[in-house]
Amino acid sequence: MKDESQVKITLPDGSERFYPKGVTALEIALSISEGLARNVIAAKVNNEVWDPTRQITEDSLVKLLTWNDEDGKATFWHSSAHLLAEALEALYPGIKFGTGPSIEKGFYYDVDLGGQTISQEDFPKIEAKMLELARQKNEYIRKPISKAEAIEYFTKKGDEYKLELIDGLEDGSITLYEQGGFTDLCRGPHIPNTGFIKAAKLTNIAGAYWRNKQENKMLTRIYGITFPKQKELEEYVTLMEEAKKRDHRRLGKELELFAFSEKVGQGLPLWLPKGAMLRERLQAFLSKAQSRAGYVPVITPHIGSKDLYVTSGHWDKYGKDSFQPIKTPNLDEEYMLKPMNCPHHCEIYKTSPRSYKDLPLRFSEFGTVYRYEQSGELHGLTRVRGFTQDDAHIFCRPDQVKEEFIRVIDLVLYVFKSLGFDDYSAQISLRDPNNKEKYIGRDEDWEKAESAIIEAAAERGLSTVTELGEAAFYGPKLDFMVRDALGRKWQLGTIQVDYQLPQRFQLEYTGSDNQKHRPVMIHRAPFGSMERFTAILIENTAGQFPLWLSPDQIAILPISEKFADYAEDVFFQLQDHDIRGFVDHRDEKIGRKIRDAEVTKVPFMLIVGEKEAAEGKLSVRRKGEGDLGSMTIDEFTAFFKKEAAIA
Ligand SMILES: [Zn+2]
Ligand SMILES: [Zn+2]
Repeated sequence: MKDESQVKITLPDGSERFYPKGVTALEIALSISEGLARNVIAAKVNNEVWDPTRQITEDSLVKLLTWNDEDGKATFWHSSAHLLAEALEALYPGIKFGTGPSIEKGFYYDVDLGGQTISQEDFPKIEAKMLELARQKNEYIRKPISKAEAIEYFTKKGDEYKLELIDGLEDGSITLYEQGGFTDLCRGPHIPNTGFIKAAKLTNIAGAYWRNKQENKMLTRIYGITFPKQKELEEYVTLMEEAKKRDHRRLGKELELFAFSEKVGQGLPLWLPKGAMLRERLQAFLSKAQSRAGYVPVITPHIGSKDLYVTSGHWDKYGKDSFQPIKTPNLDEEYMLKPMNCPHHCEIYKTSPRSYKDLPLRFSEFGTVYRYEQSGELHGLTRVRGFTQDDAHIFCRPDQVKEEFIRVIDLVLYVFKSLGFDDYSAQISLRDPNNKEKYIGRDEDWEKAESAIIEAAAERGLSTVTELGEAAFYGPKLDFMVRDALGRKWQLGTIQVDYQLPQRFQLEYTGSDNQKHRPVMIHRAPFGSMERFTAILIENTAGQFPLWLSPDQIAILPISEKFADYAEDVFFQLQDHDIRGFVDHRDEKIGRKIRDAEVTKVPFMLIVGEKEAAEGKLSVRRKGEGDLGSMTIDEFTAFFKKEAAIA
């Protein structure tokens, strides 16, 4: 039994233990095993991440975090940002600090160098300093402090950035963290001491506006990553080198798939002929699968009246940060570039009265949308300002949600399988059960939809994690993640229930009871967007697309000019079978032509010379496999068709 001087600690497996009041997560770990204690770098206390050395004075739910937990890594990397700052302050006295958060892979710190400069050449020196300080095993010490004291400290230090941050903080909520000779304004949490950091690498340097606002001063952002083991850093470096080779921006250029032009505008991709071919194949593939799954295509314009987005709520929520309204000669008229297709589809729903027998309705559209992103956020095809969603909206009755989820899951899995993504998982995002008033929609509908998603995922054998409180305020959702050939995780398709738009647009159907009811809307996009998906596909395949998708499937390589006519003849015959490619008429040696075709990743090379022309045959080579022998055109066509079938 617990007495007054104790706290009850509940562990994730449900077991309960009693400890003296003021126990720390580290001490709890130690009471379980020494090995565990060596690896604990943070703790989740009642769902908040804490320093493992912070005293627990109330009965609490405690999860010990190690490097293998996302929150553990984040704490490790945020602590590493402090270590970087300490190293920088030692090497560049007088520099000032902005903010230094952890990011998905590593961390950064924004600094004002004053008159000093830092370049990539300085990285080894800074890394060495970080490791020297890490070896001192300096503890991260949390210090609650009053606002007045905090202001005094940073005024003395002369760091106006920290002072500006303090200005926005409430007295009583402010903490400093100190390790070694460095003190930072920080909410925490942190790892026990710097000794956990065994390997450090600075990865990049860039400019970043203070607080992300263009009117503010440009600071220097230094990116880094750290690890608890040297070996992990080595693996990371190898992975990064491979990732660089597969970078879709680089391959996109080499394979002539897409380009950007300053003149056209930042973040607005131009699809080149080969890229357009690839994209059209992808769209055709998905259109066919959707048509089989009962979707009907619709087409809507690229702009919509501002009023449409006032009704949908987008104007209120995102209007300020969007492309601004387009005016017409008529002063009162304002249009928005379409940021999403949903409002247009709601209006399509309303074009005729709907009965329960009409549902579900599944409207699909490769809808191009435009969203303003800051130029610093743009990245190849993965972050753009104009992109085409493989969008669809399903309007159904509440009792149809589960069946529709199953159908969408089947579609998504078919897409993944056909494109070679075998390693996938899903996240189910549900309401926070303790905070139900945050969400729109009826309680019973939420319960029905949430259990529908859980059951649908289970029936399809999806490996899922469930996150409470991660649902949007307008409905629960299911997100798919794929792991690519390098083990990197990408978020792909989403299936999202929406109770809000049907309400805002006053959508209705007549039920079997002859009463008016509100349909449920489901948003879904298996690819997400054509741009982002193409980028992921390029990086996953290193540009070696499945045969059915390859922009050029064959290259016909005449040994000399003498066989140009025969080559053309073969080309036209293959074209009749929808086989795509080209004839390489250049005056080059055949070896060179083969090499060039290999570099541009053409799957089949068809070599034609004297013997082939005389016998009406082709000498077939496959990229990565070499010579497949000689075939007649019919033989090759039959072989090709089998190879090009979608898995
Ligand atoms: Zn911090
Ligand atoms: Zn939508």
